[in-house]
Amino acid sequence: MTTSISIQALEKTYITPRRTVRAVAGVNLDISPGELFFLLGPSGCGKTTLLRMIAGFIDPTGGRIAFSGRDVTHMPPNKRNTGMVFQSYALWPHMTVAQNVAFGLSVRRVKADERDRRVREALEAVQLADFGARKPNELSGGQQQRVALARALVIRPDVLLLDEPLSNLDAKLRIELRAQIRAICKSTGITSVYVTHDQKEALSMADRIAIMRAGQVEQVGEPRTLYRRPTSAFVAEFLGETNFLSAEVEQSGPEGSSLRTPAGVLRSSHAGAGGARVTLSIRPEALALLDAPAGGALEGRLVETCYLGEIAQHVVELPGGMRVKVAALNPGARSPEPGAQVRLRADPDDVVIVG
Ligand code: ADP
Ligand code: MG
Repeated sequence: MTTSISIQALEKTYITPRRTVRAVAGVNLDISPGELFFLLGPSGCGKTTLLRMIAGFIDPTGGRIAFSGRDVTHMPPNKRNTGMVFQSYALWPHMTVAQNVAFGLSVRRVKADERDRRVREALEAVQLADFGARKPNELSGGQQQRVALARALVIRPDVLLLDEPLSNLDAKLRIELRAQIRAICKSTGITSVYVTHDQKEALSMADRIAIMRAGQVEQVGEPRTLYRRPTSAFVAEFLGETNFLSAEVEQSGPEGSSLRTPAGVLRSSHAGAGGARVTLSIRPEALALLDAPAGGALEGRLVETCYLGEIAQHVVELPGGMRVKVAALNPGARSPEPGAQVRLRADPDDVVIVG
């Protein structure tokens, strides 16, 4: 049976001579057994503090943490059976890969034959079965991080905690390791909490993501839900490029709403309070640029187009001076000239009311 994590009203306040920081300010989360759960947010929003409270390295100033219903809030880290992977791999340089992985088992006084078997299994899990005799400096950065992961897995933790594990690697390796780490977490079935500030990493790897802002959780959901249905401008903008438009709700019903913007009327499949002034988020790739008249569309003037082969990035100025970004995948041979009057259309599902 794998472990669930329940976090209730969790707080950590740092009081320093110069200032008081509420690093974690009332966080509630329920993480399911076997889930690969992400904490995503900008630098300084409290991700590491929250993760280290789950590990037991930081004592909360308030609230409660439970593993499968068992209160661990003030339990010392070595009693919680968590495995940790950090940004810096922190391997012992004088030990072999196998000795590094075996370290936690030796500390736990696991017998030699079982220890060797578990080290072999852990190295197989991270696809480094043949690397046991090497020293860390004979491995690439990505391989070293996989050794660090094997070292965390070998103790068979109830909970695996990863703090920006890919941030020290170059871009290509980072992308390769995303899929590998996800596959390892899912095949072991260990409940994992993964901290990152990289949206793409979270979107591509997570079962669910909590978006954090200033010590609090702003929204929790599956990657597609968060990207497509952000409930705040902060989440919409943090997860990718978007356009914000102000609008007035003309009419709203069960099928959605009709929204008046300075550039025309848009349909949204989301409800809004009639008469309210709202902010809309529409992603560049959700806008289609049309040079022919079309119903239910915004009118504007094409300002510029940047052609990049697989994609063209347009900037369109709406009446009132507001500019929106439009991304067209697989652009055709012809494009309207800058200065041309154009129309923009969006699927009602992609017109999201964020505030
Ligand atoms: P993140 O991992 O999201 O970048 P952290 O959890 O490291 O954020 O930090 C959250 C906030 O708490 C920041 O404002 C940081 O400066 C502050 N903080 C973290 N650790 C300490 C500490 N030991 N003493 C005082 N302030 C701290
Ligand atoms: Mg951090």
